Amino acid sequence: MEKKGLVFNIQHYSLHDGPGIRTIVFFKGCPLRCRWCCNPESQNHYPEVSYDEKRCLSSEVCSKCQKVCKNNAIIFSADGKAIIQRDKCSNCMKCIAECPAKAYKKEGTDYTAAKLLAIVEQDSVFYRSGNGGLTVSGGEPLMQGQFLIDLLKAAKKSRLSTAMETCGYADYSILKQAAEYLDTILFDIKSLDNFKHIMYTGQSNQIILNNFESLCRDFPHLHKHVRTPVIPGFNDSIEDLKKIEDYLKDKPAVTYEKLSYHRFGVGKYKTLGRKYPMDD
Ligand code: SF4
Ligand code: SF4
Repeated sequence: MEKKGLVFNIQHYSLHDGPGIRTIVFFKGCPLRCRWCCNPESQNHYPEVSYDEKRCLSSEVCSKCQKVCKNNAIIFSADGKAIIQRDKCSNCMKCIAECPAKAYKKEGTDYTAAKLLAIVEQDSVFYRSGNGGLTVSGGEPLMQGQFLIDLLKAAKKSRLSTAMETCGYADYSILKQAAEYLDTILFDIKSLDNFKHIMYTGQSNQIILNNFESLCRDFPHLHKHVRTPVIPGFNDSIEDLKKIEDYLKDKPAVTYEKLSYHRFGVGKYKTLGRKYPMDD
């Protein structure tokens, strides 16, 4: 049977994630837990239900979701809004179809590579100028290694320009296979300070830096666009950023960009029943 990939979003007409105009396929599942993450729905590697309280019509007129939930996971607040008790929710998704106000949403859908490619190719008219094409992002695309390779291979067969955004935390053998089918890699280097890296992302930077070194050795001509999200209290000192710039100086085919911190994803944490880790 053809391998399927779990994707949580497909974004058309993006101008910031590789050359030209691009279609971004967001893979679900990430090995890091960056405290500033603006896509919390990307983190878990399984489909999950999100819920927008603002849409709920209130228990005065509707309680359909509560009736359908076999786990008794849904209760109502004093003002009549549904609340998911996440410790009881099994992500069965039954409440989604029941809700007349579309307050619930499934985060994560299975696609075959062929189906995804057909969607991406609908935008091909935009790719002609500026070498646009497909960008795979996440989450972390390398977590779904075989599916990622299938998709990139198929994209190359269709002569699409390919780019991948990665946190770099993966088995190098998968990264190496993916790189064979990439025109650009957008590689995050967040901090050279391992202690802070663990504190703010949940993982050591050693695998990431080793992978980056190996990538430079094995793919000297591959365009590596390194990015650092500049996060208050984590890596926003001149010293921290200079260390990264110095580290990149002798690396081949590298460009570098610092990304500013933003809080666009804060609202999404509430829809998933989680707390934004950088609330303060
Ligand atoms: S997804 Fe969760 S809240 Fe919704 S019906 Fe299933 S168990 Fe209940
Ligand atoms: S089904 Fe939708 S509108 Fe009805 S109570 Fe549940 S969340 Fe609110």
